[in-house]
Amino acid sequence: METRDVVIVGAGLLGCFAARALAAYALDVTVLEAREDVCTGVSRANTGVIYAGYDTQPGTLKTRLCVAGSRGMAALCRELDVPFSRCGSLMIACGEKAEAVLRRKYAAGLENGVEGLRLLTAGAVRAMEPNLTDRVTAGLYAPGAGTLDPWALGIAAFENAQANGVEFRFGQAVGAIRRNPGGFLLETDTETYQTRAVLNCAGLAADRVRELVEAPLVRIFPSAADYLVLDDLSRGFVRHVIFHEPEEKGKGLTLVPTVSGNLLVGPTERDMAVAPGATAAAGLAELRALCAQIVPDLDLDLVIRSFGAVRPNPYYVREEGGVWQPEARGIPSFTVLEEGGLVSLIGIKTPGLTCAKPLGDYAAQRLLAHLGGAARRPDFDPRRRGIPNLSAMAETERAALVLSQPDYGRIVCRCRGVSEGEVREAIRRGACTVDGVKRRTGAGMGRCQGGVCMERVLALLAEARGVPASAVCKDGAGSEVLHGTL
Ligand SMILES: Cc1cc2nc3c(=O)[nH]c(=O)nc-3n(C[C@H](O)[C@H](O)[C@H](O)COP(=O)(O)OP(=O)(O)OC[C@H]3O[C@@H](n4cnc5c(N)ncnc54)[C@H](O)[C@@H]3O)c2cc1C
Repeated sequence: METRDVVIVGAGLLGCFAARALAAYALDVTVLEAREDVCTGVSRANTGVIYAGYDTQPGTLKTRLCVAGSRGMAALCRELDVPFSRCGSLMIACGEKAEAVLRRKYAAGLENGVEGLRLLTAGAVRAMEPNLTDRVTAGLYAPGAGTLDPWALGIAAFENAQANGVEFRFGQAVGAIRRNPGGFLLETDTETYQTRAVLNCAGLAADRVRELVEAPLVRIFPSAADYLVLDDLSRGFVRHVIFHEPEEKGKGLTLVPTVSGNLLVGPTERDMAVAPGATAAAGLAELRALCAQIVPDLDLDLVIRSFGAVRPNPYYVREEGGVWQPEARGIPSFTVLEEGGLVSLIGIKTPGLTCAKPLGDYAAQRLLAHLGGAARRPDFDPRRRGIPNLSAMAETERAALVLSQPDYGRIVCRCRGVSEGEVREAIRRGACTVDGVKRRTGAGMGRCQGGVCMERVLALLAEARGVPASAVCKDGAGSEVLHGTL
């Protein structure tokens, strides 16, 4: 049987960035992903904020990687051709208790080396963001914060790793791992893989994947979050990422002016009362109530979608009467466990997006140390070009593209101006579901949420895959859209 140097389990943001980091070396690397595509887990349902680095405990790995990730994000996004908005963030207080939190975060930010942080008066905050409540008493401004579409960054890392020789295999859920003299033997339902080392990036299942070979040590106790997405008419309502620090206990409100221009509101923090990934009515009502307090003029009739997310909260566990119980406090830094060639990233939550590249680099270095090093590949190319984005092009550029490739002249998604050419290119690059096309092109993300374009996207997917449209899923197995033919 062929032996790989490294098998990565999971193709979320972290698996894709670790794969890209390893692709720079003369190594045989395979990524095994349980689902049909990359970035279908935690990496697609989050807030999309690039943190400046004042929120985390000074001196931790998390802080070091967050500050590095934030500083390097603009250059990384240029290299990978991913839209990024360094819009800055404003954390706001509406009272003395919250003001004290802002001062503590300011001090932590200075200690962490975050540049440009400023404490602001209420007047200065309102001058920057006139739509905020006049109850604001102070603000903390971080010019280095920003936002991007998290899946876009992960997909770019995937394409770049693949172009540099990493093998990605989908529909490969790792169900068994055994140590052997050559390293590890991994089993999925259909295949067996021999590898010298394993990187476990299985997101919400990372604890269970590690426990296929090791005794429990850290387990994930998930909690849930809810979000609201507003129509493009919300563009410009706020210009910075707004973090509202509540006066009493609770989560507060976050408002994100996305790279597409519309507004994202959330997340809440709640127990997993409903199915993973589902929204809860109480969570959505909480967001609306917070908006009424903090941005009273925001028109919530502009909400076009809501979605749920799951937080992979890590806790050390100890056995009590045959049951693994969590310690009272969660783990504040990133948990990277190394056990004889098995490296596990467990419970990487915020700011895992900000840290995706430095954490991928870090994991790759741990694996290289285990493997005894490897030569750098002189032909490694860190650059990747995104799918041509018709709606962002100048008139002349667009005309030239349509002339040379007429399917770029046929608009499929009217809300976001996405053409058939872009959809076909997304499918060529690996999209195999309606949501896979959506994440790669934006088709279906606008006001009508796919009402107009889904039929054409289904037909194009069916044609490319040579299957009936009724076999095409919206988002993974069991989410077929049609019962019949188009
Ligand atoms: C609510 C929320 C908001 C957040 N907001 C931010 C933010 O604003 N800024 C920021 O910096 N960070 C943020 N984060 C953190 C960031 O989203 C995560 O750290 C990051 O997405 C984690 O990526 P991952 O690759 O570990 O997990 P995932 O994306 O979940 O990937 C894991 C993959 O492993 C696969 N898998 C699982 N089991 C197996 C198996 N047995 N075999 C094969 N494959 C398997 C899964 O299918 C999945 O594709 C947020 C997180 C949450 C939950």
